[in-house]
Amino acid sequence: MVTVSGTATSRGFVSGTVFLYAGEHDVVLPEYTIPESKVGAELARYREARAETRRQLEGVVADVSSRVASAEADIFRNHLVMLEDEVIISSVENAIRDERLNAEAAIHRVSDSFRKTFERMNDPYLRERARDLDDVERRIMRVLAGRAETALTQITSPVIVVADDLTPSETVTLPRKFILGFATNHGSATSHVALLARAMGIPAVTGLGDITSRVQAGDRILLDGTHGEVTVNPDRNTREQFARLIWRERELMAALEESRLQPERGLNVKLLANVQPGVPFGSLAAFGAEGMGLYRSEYLWLGGADEPTENVQTTAYTEAVKAAASLGSEARVVIRVLDIGGDKMMKGAAAREPNPFLGNRSIRFLLSRKDIFRTQLRAILKASANGNAAILYPMVATIEELRQANAELRTAMEQLRMAGIPFDERIPVGCMIEIPSAALNADLFAKEVSFFSIGTNDLVQYVMAADRGNEQVSYLYQPTNPAVIKLVDMAAQAAAKAGISCSVCGESASDPVLASLWAALGVTGLSMSAGYIPAIRKVLRSIEPSDADALATEVRELCSTAGANEIYAHVRDFLVRRIPDLEDIQAFFAPSGTER
Ligand code: PEP
Ligand code: MG
Repeated sequence: MVTVSGTATSRGFVSGTVFLYAGEHDVVLPEYTIPESKVGAELARYREARAETRRQLEGVVADVSSRVASAEADIFRNHLVMLEDEVIISSVENAIRDERLNAEAAIHRVSDSFRKTFERMNDPYLRERARDLDDVERRIMRVLAGRAETALTQITSPVIVVADDLTPSETVTLPRKFILGFATNHGSATSHVALLARAMGIPAVTGLGDITSRVQAGDRILLDGTHGEVTVNPDRNTREQFARLIWRERELMAALEESRLQPERGLNVKLLANVQPGVPFGSLAAFGAEGMGLYRSEYLWLGGADEPTENVQTTAYTEAVKAAASLGSEARVVIRVLDIGGDKMMKGAAAREPNPFLGNRSIRFLLSRKDIFRTQLRAILKASANGNAAILYPMVATIEELRQANAELRTAMEQLRMAGIPFDERIPVGCMIEIPSAALNADLFAKEVSFFSIGTNDLVQYVMAADRGNEQVSYLYQPTNPAVIKLVDMAAQAAAKAGISCSVCGESASDPVLASLWAALGVTGLSMSAGYIPAIRKVLRSIEPSDADALATEVRELCSTAGANEIYAHVRDFLVRRIPDLEDIQAFFAPSGTER
């Protein structure tokens, strides 16, 4: 028996036998020179293969849109874009024509050079696009070789697929009813395969290193997608423990579902979903999201393609506005304008700055690129004609920035009025509280916006001067440091005084302890990955408003005598007294496939 740790990619516990998938790495690439007289025929062969590949991909887009979700189909729409990329096509044709390479060798050569460019990118999302290119290459190679789909389509009994890596195409061809889960050597929680696994509800662990050499076809394995572990050939004791875990998870899910059906009680805080383009909205209603508290628009820019046009943006935002409407008549989507910079760099961005997190990011960037800002504002406004939308400005540090951003909004509105294009004239506008200056000046900001959204991910890093992504200083990254608590408290109180709403949209909103603390301090909404909503709802419904007030008083007092760990433990104890299951809830809902 051996247990291997990897990346928790898609939540869930499964036990089953291994289907070892070798992938197509072993397929030998045919490579030869063609005589001058055959160049025309080889070009025609390449073009026909491309046409067939296009037909296949169009079929996959239609199939995935109906079976999974339209947003998932975008992965394959992007494959179509790669397939039809003129630079790639002319490079392949030149290699066939000028160097007399056969189609396979020419395609491989060109794909390889593009792949290397992607692999060198800093942004993990863009690096991941190299895998998409792989996928398109493998598909067209299969067509050229006259081979059918992969061996995965032949699976006819329940198995756990173990592979070196899976491409998005391979993942969607998995016969869902027979796939208990999958485990791969490579891959990350942010890969397209991870998004597909979560959307299809398939438990998955990726980044396991050498899992393919540790198992044989038919071995029994236990896969824990919640914590990112795979146990090979478990002994009886471990198997029994795991079976109990599976039952416990089922019980918990049933209990959480039951708490959803119970009449409202406990703390009344809106539970909202953090979303982004490219990830389906389909499951939001099932998790009981009351709206979308944060739409990270920057993912339209990070997708690797060129800058999204006004039309592309309008379509994406409209899709989100309509999806919000299906969550209730009051539900809305809060569209955050381009939060670029820091760890999220876009194609063609300016030269790297020495200190990107303290540099020209987010609203600063937009105010220096008013062309991009106005285009985005017009697109959001156009989408707002279809339902409830709100605009959120990220990384606001000064009141002047807020006023300048509002001036841009007024210009964008005027442009639409002149053109006779309808939009929501009363669209709510809010600002993120994620820079200490904004929290300290919350009373000033509260007079000029209609809501606050506290971004604890950034707020904690700026208060503590500890990079949110740097393991070496993670001990300083303390959401319950008294300094952070005081700032959240100030923002929530300023909002309450001004009569505006105030939610938290950082990762801390999905931690039962922190969510309870923010709610006790008076935040009116919590926005998180939708999958966490049932657990947070259960926790908040177990707290009486008068107890929450007492907790807030205790924590405010502790802020002058205690450190972060003591305060966290204090809130945790408060919860454990009310929710005996708290430990299980925290364990079962450990972050799986973190958002960022
Ligand atoms: C935050 O900073 O908490 C936040 C929600 O924004 P992001 O994580 O996208 O920076
Ligand atoms: Mg932020």
